Amino acid sequence: MTQYLKPPIRISIFVSALFFSHFANAMPEQALVPGGIALLALPDYKQDTKVFFNDKRIAVFPYNNTWLAMAGIGLSDKPGDYLFSIRRADGLSLNTKVTVKHKKYDEQHLTIKNKRKVNPNARDNERIAAESKRKRKARKQYSETMPNVDFIWPVSGRISSIFGLRRFFNEQERRPHSGLDIAAAEGTPIKAAANGTVIDTGDFFFSGNMIYLDHGQGIISLYAHLSAISVKPGDIVKQGDIIGKLGQTGRVTGPHLHFAVYANQTLIDPVFMLPEHKAPATVTSPEKTAAPLKISDKSRQNQ
Ligand SMILES: [Zn+2]
Repeated sequence: MTQYLKPPIRISIFVSALFFSHFANAMPEQALVPGGIALLALPDYKQDTKVFFNDKRIAVFPYNNTWLAMAGIGLSDKPGDYLFSIRRADGLSLNTKVTVKHKKYDEQHLTIKNKRKVNPNARDNERIAAESKRKRKARKQYSETMPNVDFIWPVSGRISSIFGLRRFFNEQERRPHSGLDIAAAEGTPIKAAANGTVIDTGDFFFSGNMIYLDHGQGIISLYAHLSAISVKPGDIVKQGDIIGKLGQTGRVTGPHLHFAVYANQTLIDPVFMLPEHKAPATVTSPEKTAAPLKISDKSRQNQ
Protein backbone atom coordinates (compact mmCIF):
# COMPACT_ATOMS: atom_id res chain seq x y z
CA MET A 1 0.00 0.00 0.00
CA THR A 2 1.42 3.29 -1.03
CA GLN A 3 1.13 6.13 1.35
CA TYR A 4 0.97 9.58 -0.15
CA LEU A 5 2.46 12.26 1.95
CA LYS A 6 1.48 15.85 1.54
CA PRO A 7 4.56 17.78 0.56
CA PRO A 8 5.68 20.16 3.31
CA ILE A 9 4.35 23.67 2.87
CA ARG A 10 7.12 25.98 1.87
CA ILE A 11 7.05 28.94 4.18
CA SER A 12 10.56 30.03 3.28
CA ILE A 13 9.20 32.30 0.55
CA PHE A 14 8.24 34.89 3.12
CA VAL A 15 11.32 34.49 5.27
CA SER A 16 13.16 36.70 2.85
CA ALA A 17 10.73 39.54 3.58
CA LEU A 18 12.68 42.71 4.22
CA PHE A 19 11.82 46.02 5.75
CA PHE A 20 12.60 49.07 3.68
CA SER A 21 13.60 52.37 5.15
CA HIS A 22 13.90 54.82 2.26
CA PHE A 23 12.92 55.25 -1.36
CA ALA A 24 13.88 57.76 -3.95
CA ASN A 25 11.23 59.38 -6.14
CA ALA A 26 7.62 59.61 -5.08
CA MET A 27 7.28 56.18 -3.54
CA PRO A 28 5.80 56.00 -0.04
CA GLU A 29 8.44 56.50 2.62
CA GLN A 30 8.60 54.22 5.62
CA ALA A 31 8.18 55.92 9.02
CA LEU A 32 7.53 53.53 11.89
CA VAL A 33 5.72 56.08 14.06
CA PRO A 34 2.06 56.90 14.78
CA GLY A 35 0.73 58.56 11.61
CA GLY A 36 3.49 56.94 9.54
CA ILE A 37 3.86 54.09 7.07
CA ALA A 38 5.17 50.53 7.45
CA LEU A 39 6.43 48.81 4.29
CA LEU A 40 6.97 45.10 3.89
CA ALA A 41 8.70 43.53 0.88
CA LEU A 42 7.15 40.33 -0.45
CA PRO A 43 9.54 38.97 -3.12
CA ASP A 44 7.42 35.92 -4.00
CA TYR A 45 4.02 37.56 -3.67
CA LYS A 46 1.10 35.91 -5.49
CA GLN A 47 -1.82 38.13 -6.34
CA ASP A 48 -4.33 35.92 -4.52
CA THR A 49 -2.45 36.54 -1.26
CA LYS A 50 -4.02 39.12 1.05
CA VAL A 51 -2.04 41.20 3.50
CA PHE A 52 -3.49 42.69 6.68
CA PHE A 53 -2.22 45.14 9.30
CA ASN A 54 -4.13 45.62 12.55
CA ASP A 55 -6.65 43.23 10.94
CA LYS A 56 -7.34 45.67 8.10
CA ARG A 57 -6.58 44.71 4.48
CA ILE A 58 -3.65 46.74 3.13
CA ALA A 59 -2.38 47.71 -0.31
CA VAL A 60 0.21 45.65 -2.20
CA PHE A 61 1.97 46.99 -5.30
CA PRO A 62 4.99 46.15 -7.44
CA TYR A 63 8.23 48.01 -6.83
CA ASN A 64 11.40 47.27 -8.82
CA ASN A 65 11.63 43.48 -8.90
CA THR A 66 9.56 42.88 -5.80
CA TRP A 67 6.18 43.63 -4.23
CA LEU A 68 5.55 45.94 -1.32
CA ALA A 69 2.75 45.85 1.22
CA MET A 70 2.00 49.29 2.66
CA ALA A 71 0.34 49.83 6.03
CA GLY A 72 -0.86 53.09 7.50
CA ILE A 73 -0.11 53.41 11.23
CA GLY A 74 -2.82 55.28 13.16
CA LEU A 75 -1.98 58.57 14.83
CA SER A 76 -3.56 57.25 18.04
CA ASP A 77 -1.75 53.88 17.83
CA LYS A 78 0.56 53.38 20.81
CA PRO A 79 4.26 52.63 20.35
CA GLY A 80 4.91 48.89 20.38
CA ASP A 81 4.73 45.80 18.20
CA TYR A 82 2.21 45.40 15.38
CA LEU A 83 1.67 42.50 13.00
CA PHE A 84 1.59 42.20 9.27
CA SER A 85 -0.54 39.15 8.53
CA ILE A 86 0.11 37.52 5.16
CA ARG A 87 -2.77 35.20 4.22
CA ARG A 88 -2.30 32.97 1.18
CA ALA A 89 -5.14 31.54 -0.88
CA ASP A 90 -4.13 27.99 0.20
CA GLY A 91 -4.84 28.90 3.80
CA LEU A 92 -1.27 29.44 4.93
CA SER A 93 -0.97 32.48 7.14
CA LEU A 94 2.24 34.12 8.26
CA ASN A 95 2.78 36.99 10.67
CA THR A 96 5.64 39.46 10.62
CA LYS A 97 6.23 41.87 13.47
CA VAL A 98 7.02 45.54 13.13
CA THR A 99 7.88 47.91 15.99
CA VAL A 100 6.29 51.37 16.06
CA LYS A 101 8.27 54.02 17.92
CA HIS A 102 7.10 57.09 19.81
CA LYS A 103 6.81 60.42 18.02
CA LYS A 104 6.17 63.73 19.70
CA TYR A 105 3.64 65.95 17.96
CA ASP A 106 3.59 69.66 18.73
CA GLU A 107 0.62 71.83 19.61
CA GLN A 108 -1.04 74.42 17.41
CA HIS A 109 -3.35 77.16 18.68
CA LEU A 110 -5.77 78.69 16.19
CA THR A 111 -8.39 81.40 16.45
CA ILE A 112 -11.61 80.76 14.54
CA LYS A 113 -13.86 83.78 13.99
CA ASN A 114 -16.97 81.69 13.25
CA LYS A 115 -17.55 80.34 16.77
CA ARG A 116 -20.14 77.80 15.56
CA LYS A 117 -17.32 75.97 13.77
CA VAL A 118 -15.78 75.37 17.23
CA ASN A 119 -18.97 74.98 19.28
CA PRO A 120 -21.66 73.79 16.84
CA ASN A 121 -25.33 74.15 17.76
CA ALA A 122 -27.83 71.25 17.94
CA ARG A 123 -28.75 71.45 14.25
CA ASP A 124 -25.08 71.61 13.28
CA ASN A 125 -24.44 68.50 15.38
CA GLU A 126 -27.13 66.60 13.46
CA ARG A 127 -25.46 67.59 10.22
CA ILE A 128 -22.01 66.64 11.57
CA ALA A 129 -23.30 63.19 12.63
CA ALA A 130 -24.75 62.55 9.15
CA GLU A 131 -21.50 63.70 7.55
CA SER A 132 -19.38 61.42 9.77
CA LYS A 133 -21.31 58.43 8.42
CA ARG A 134 -20.63 59.60 4.88
CA LYS A 135 -16.94 60.11 5.68
CA ARG A 136 -16.70 56.65 7.25
CA LYS A 137 -18.21 55.12 4.12
CA ALA A 138 -15.74 56.97 1.90
CA ARG A 139 -12.66 55.92 3.84
CA LYS A 140 -13.82 52.26 3.89
CA GLN A 141 -13.75 52.15 0.08
CA TYR A 142 -11.57 49.22 -1.00
CA SER A 143 -11.14 48.50 -4.69
CA GLU A 144 -9.02 45.65 -6.01
CA THR A 145 -7.31 47.75 -8.70
CA MET A 146 -3.52 48.09 -8.58
CA PRO A 147 -2.85 51.03 -6.24
CA ASN A 148 -1.40 54.31 -7.54
CA VAL A 149 1.06 55.43 -4.90
CA ASP A 150 3.37 57.71 -6.93
CA PHE A 151 1.83 60.93 -5.63
CA ILE A 152 2.53 64.48 -6.79
CA TRP A 153 1.89 67.67 -4.78
CA PRO A 154 -1.76 68.68 -5.42
CA VAL A 155 -0.84 72.38 -5.31
CA SER A 156 2.23 74.54 -4.72
CA GLY A 157 2.16 76.87 -1.77
CA ARG A 158 3.23 77.56 1.78
CA ILE A 159 2.84 74.69 4.28
CA SER A 160 0.69 76.41 6.90
CA SER A 161 0.12 73.37 9.12
CA ILE A 162 1.61 69.90 9.27
CA PHE A 163 0.02 66.55 10.11
CA GLY A 164 -0.57 65.40 13.68
CA LEU A 165 -0.43 68.73 15.53
CA ARG A 166 -2.48 68.69 18.72
CA ARG A 167 -5.03 71.37 17.94
CA PHE A 168 -6.64 74.01 20.08
CA PHE A 169 -9.37 76.11 18.44
CA ASN A 170 -10.14 79.24 20.46
CA GLU A 171 -8.15 77.51 23.24
CA GLN A 172 -10.40 74.41 23.20
CA GLU A 173 -8.71 71.13 22.37
CA ARG A 174 -10.07 69.30 19.33
CA ARG A 175 -8.89 66.33 17.27
CA PRO A 176 -5.26 66.43 16.08
CA HIS A 177 -4.62 67.78 12.61
CA SER A 178 -5.37 64.95 10.18
CA GLY A 179 -3.68 66.27 7.05
CA LEU A 180 -1.27 68.74 5.52
CA ASP A 181 -2.34 72.35 4.97
CA ILE A 182 -0.99 74.11 1.89
CA ALA A 183 -1.83 77.81 1.73
CA ALA A 184 -2.14 79.59 -1.64
CA ALA A 185 -4.39 82.13 -3.32
CA GLU A 186 -8.11 81.40 -3.42
CA GLY A 187 -9.01 79.87 -6.79
CA THR A 188 -5.64 78.16 -7.37
CA PRO A 189 -6.27 74.93 -9.33
CA ILE A 190 -6.02 71.71 -7.30
CA LYS A 191 -4.58 68.63 -9.00
CA ALA A 192 -5.31 64.95 -8.40
CA ALA A 193 -2.28 63.57 -6.52
CA ALA A 194 -2.44 60.30 -8.48
CA ASN A 195 -4.68 58.41 -10.91
CA GLY A 196 -7.95 57.50 -9.27
CA THR A 197 -11.72 57.42 -9.13
CA VAL A 198 -13.88 60.02 -7.36
CA ILE A 199 -15.59 58.35 -4.37
CA ASP A 200 -17.57 61.29 -3.01
CA THR A 201 -17.76 65.08 -3.16
CA GLY A 202 -19.79 67.56 -1.15
CA ASP A 203 -20.03 70.48 1.25
CA PHE A 204 -19.14 69.37 4.78
CA PHE A 205 -19.52 71.36 8.02
CA PHE A 206 -15.84 71.33 9.06
CA SER A 207 -14.13 70.35 5.79
CA GLY A 208 -16.12 72.64 3.49
CA ASN A 209 -16.16 71.54 -0.15
CA MET A 210 -14.35 68.24 -0.23
CA ILE A 211 -13.33 65.52 -2.71
CA TYR A 212 -12.38 61.90 -1.95
CA LEU A 213 -10.29 60.03 -4.53
CA ASP A 214 -9.82 56.26 -4.54
CA HIS A 215 -6.33 55.26 -5.69
CA GLY A 216 -6.89 51.52 -5.21
CA GLN A 217 -6.69 49.03 -2.35
CA GLY A 218 -7.61 51.46 0.39
CA ILE A 219 -5.27 54.29 -0.65
CA ILE A 220 -7.51 57.37 -0.61
CA SER A 221 -6.70 61.07 -0.90
CA LEU A 222 -8.90 63.90 0.34
CA TYR A 223 -8.99 67.58 -0.66
CA ALA A 224 -10.88 69.97 1.66
CA HIS A 225 -11.91 73.65 2.00
CA LEU A 226 -12.25 74.02 -1.81
CA SER A 227 -13.98 77.03 -3.38
CA ALA A 228 -15.10 74.88 -6.33
CA ILE A 229 -15.37 71.18 -7.17
CA SER A 230 -15.05 70.17 -10.83
CA VAL A 231 -15.54 66.39 -10.56
CA LYS A 232 -18.40 64.12 -9.50
CA PRO A 233 -18.58 60.66 -7.89
CA GLY A 234 -17.62 57.93 -10.35
CA ASP A 235 -15.37 60.18 -12.46
CA ILE A 236 -12.01 58.69 -13.39
CA VAL A 237 -9.16 61.17 -13.00
CA LYS A 238 -5.56 61.09 -14.14
CA GLN A 239 -2.68 62.31 -12.01
CA GLY A 240 -2.42 66.10 -12.39
CA ASP A 241 -6.01 66.58 -13.60
CA ILE A 242 -7.64 69.70 -12.16
CA ILE A 243 -10.34 68.51 -9.74
CA GLY A 244 -11.25 71.79 -8.04
CA LYS A 245 -10.09 75.16 -6.77
CA LEU A 246 -8.42 76.14 -3.51
CA GLY A 247 -10.73 77.95 -1.10
CA GLN A 248 -11.63 78.70 2.50
CA THR A 249 -14.89 76.83 3.06
CA GLY A 250 -15.57 75.03 6.38
CA ARG A 251 -13.51 75.60 9.55
CA VAL A 252 -10.56 77.70 8.40
CA THR A 253 -8.43 80.71 9.27
CA GLY A 254 -7.72 81.52 5.62
CA PRO A 255 -7.53 80.04 2.10
CA HIS A 256 -5.65 76.74 1.98
CA LEU A 257 -5.91 73.15 0.81
CA HIS A 258 -6.29 70.54 3.53
CA PHE A 259 -4.75 67.46 1.91
CA ALA A 260 -5.18 64.14 3.68
CA VAL A 261 -4.32 60.52 2.86
CA TYR A 262 -5.87 57.28 4.08
CA ALA A 263 -4.24 53.85 3.93
CA ASN A 264 -6.19 50.91 5.40
CA GLN A 265 -8.83 53.40 6.69
CA THR A 266 -6.07 55.14 8.65
CA LEU A 267 -5.04 58.77 8.22
CA ILE A 268 -1.32 59.04 7.59
CA ASP A 269 1.05 61.99 7.24
CA PRO A 270 0.76 62.93 3.52
CA VAL A 271 4.41 64.04 3.54
CA PHE A 272 5.46 60.37 3.47
CA MET A 273 3.56 59.96 0.17
CA LEU A 274 4.86 63.11 -1.52
CA PRO A 275 8.08 63.70 -3.45
CA GLU A 276 10.34 65.51 -1.00
CA HIS A 277 12.37 67.46 -3.51
CA LYS A 278 9.31 69.13 -4.95
CA ALA A 279 8.22 70.40 -1.54
CA PRO A 280 6.96 73.92 -2.23
CA ALA A 281 8.44 75.92 0.64
CA THR A 282 9.46 75.95 4.27
CA VAL A 283 6.87 76.03 6.99
CA THR A 284 5.72 79.25 8.48
CA SER A 285 2.59 79.16 10.54
CA PRO A 286 0.33 82.21 10.58
CA GLU A 287 -0.52 81.37 14.18
CA LYS A 288 1.70 80.55 17.12
CA THR A 289 3.05 77.03 17.31
CA ALA A 290 4.96 75.35 20.09
CA ALA A 291 8.02 74.84 17.90
CA PRO A 292 9.30 76.08 14.55
CA LEU A 293 8.32 73.64 11.80
CA LYS A 294 10.13 72.87 8.61
CA ILE A 295 8.81 70.64 5.87
CA SER A 296 12.38 69.72 4.97
CA ASP A 297 12.85 68.50 8.54
CA LYS A 298 11.44 65.08 7.70
CA SER A 299 14.15 63.14 9.51
CA ARG A 300 13.37 64.87 12.79
CA GLN A 301 9.71 64.06 12.43
CA ASN A 302 10.59 60.41 11.85
CA GLN A 303 12.25 60.07 15.24
ZN1 LIG B 1 -5.90 70.99 7.62
